[in-house]
Amino acid sequence: MSKKFENKLAVITGASRGIGAAAAITMAEEGAEVILVARTVGALEEMDDVIKEKTGREALLVPLDLTDYDGIDRLGGIIAEKWGKLDILVGNAGILGPISPLGHIKPEDWQNVMDVNVTANYRLLRSFDALLRAADHGRAVFVGSSTVAQTPRPYWGAYATSKAALDCLVKTYAAETENTPVNANILNPGPIRTAMRSRAVPGEDPMKLDTPYDLAPMFIDMCDKGFNQSGKIFNYKDYKANNNSF
Ligand code: NDP
Repeated sequence: MSKKFENKLAVITGASRGIGAAAAITMAEEGAEVILVARTVGALEEMDDVIKEKTGREALLVPLDLTDYDGIDRLGGIIAEKWGKLDILVGNAGILGPISPLGHIKPEDWQNVMDVNVTANYRLLRSFDALLRAADHGRAVFVGSSTVAQTPRPYWGAYATSKAALDCLVKTYAAETENTPVNANILNPGPIRTAMRSRAVPGEDPMKLDTPYDLAPMFIDMCDKGFNQSGKIFNYKDYKANNNSF
């Protein structure tokens, strides 16, 4: 049986662990050629081993701090030269930053959250826009709109503000690509069993949470060529309640 993402090229940021790792493995299993971006070289190499074992194919590993914006441009240049298009962009990498009253957040910590969660995604769109447009059905999915971005709560200011900004960025890009085959959407995972979640909510029993692999099919569906929505926020909670469909 042919796979959904045969001959598709996908970039997944934050692919060294957690949600991004599961999304990348699942996309590779669906036939995609995957480019994995994160800072931790060892974890990327482990991902490559897993992907090789599951699919017989290699992943392309890009050890990159996404605040190295020139590095993002270089990656865009390499993709343009080698493939001339990008079918799927998953902007997943993110950091929690300080959970603290606004008045206590250090400016450099605030800036770092904005740099990773917002500016890096803008730079990805800036560098990859032409490549997504060159694909038959360019798909961009960003992991944004955390529930706290929709309903602000005390102490989560840096993270929530960054995710609200990311939502706006993605909706703007969707509006700009309205009359093209590209679509861009936001995936709100809700609580998922990852390192970030256990740092955010340390007292919680992680075994009660869904895993990144439970969530992964949602990425597959949102990146499918038949998925024709754009500029919207999709909640995993609703997808799951609807038996893994929209
Ligand atoms: P993790 O902390 O487990 O993973 C974060 C990923 O982002 C890692 O692969 C990390 O790789 C990468 N990353 C972080 N900073 C950088 C950077 N500067 N440059 C490159 N890569 C970076 O988090 P999750 O898997 O939980 O989160 C993934 C996304 O989902 C995030 O955007 C998060 O905000 C969002 N989210 C998660 C929820 C949850 O409950 N888990 C709920 C709502 C949203 P490395 O350290 O190797 O660079």
